[in-house]
Amino acid sequence: MNTQAALAALAWYQDQGVDEALTDMPVDRFAALASSLSPAAPLLPPHKDMPTERINKPAGPPPAQQATALPLGVAQGRTEAAKMAMSAQTLEELQAAITAFDDHPLKKTATHMVFGSGHARAAIMLVGDAPGTDEDRSGQPFAGDGGRLLDQILTSIGLDRAAETPENAVYLTNILNWRPPGNRSPSPAEIELSLPFIERHIQIVRPQILILSGGVAAKALLGSGDSMSKLRRTWHEYTPRTPELQGDAPVIPAIVTYNPAYLLQTPTQKRAVWADMITLKRRYRAPA
Ligand code: URA
Repeated sequence: MNTQAALAALAWYQDQGVDEALTDMPVDRFAALASSLSPAAPLLPPHKDMPTERINKPAGPPPAQQATALPLGVAQGRTEAAKMAMSAQTLEELQAAITAFDDHPLKKTATHMVFGSGHARAAIMLVGDAPGTDEDRSGQPFAGDGGRLLDQILTSIGLDRAAETPENAVYLTNILNWRPPGNRSPSPAEIELSLPFIERHIQIVRPQILILSGGVAAKALLGSGDSMSKLRRTWHEYTPRTPELQGDAPVIPAIVTYNPAYLLQTPTQKRAVWADMITLKRRYRAPA
């Protein structure tokens, strides 16, 4: 393949969302396919005189699958995550615990861990779905165009991610601290392994109100399989789902709204988000 063809192939992959290398060595899938179809690998059982080593040897998982497989079972990984999350008493300790947790498969493909930002005692905490491309590059939640749109939405009701007074401040974070490759939807196992950390994050910030921005955030924290249209337009009572964190955790009122990344693709839903912000403002009036 010449350079031009290789660059064109890479651009095409990127357009499809294939923008992460999962292993250090390239894998020629065409060659693997050709050899599985070649007469050298017969589909019929071998004749008794034929050497059987090639046919009977288990192939093993492909390298891409090895890279995303959980080193521990999900349940074991979740228990370890809960132990590490529980031991954190401050945001700094929690950030260190997430950084030290090696059993999250997305850690292997992301560039930066995206923790959170804003006033540590903010009255409002907004939890999004997952870091995207801009967040993965910068290490900051809600960067790029989606972040700018979110800032406009918050400002319209007197809130600010950079406010120095807790009453006007919004602390921003996500369910996942690592970007899923190609911005794909996170798997249930990836969400499960992140849950103890985000729930501890909420316990440490102790906001008066939670905004759940996006379907992944709403469904993960409310433990619901309902659609966004069903979850919006009503107040929920959030309590931790992680058993180790339940203790005497206070109930936090939570409102569900669309994610700014979704709004960039579907601007007609801005009206719905505006309605959600009015609902929020009726319950929490930020000082002018
Ligand atoms: N950026 C984030 O950090 N989270 C989202 O959910 C969307 C964009």
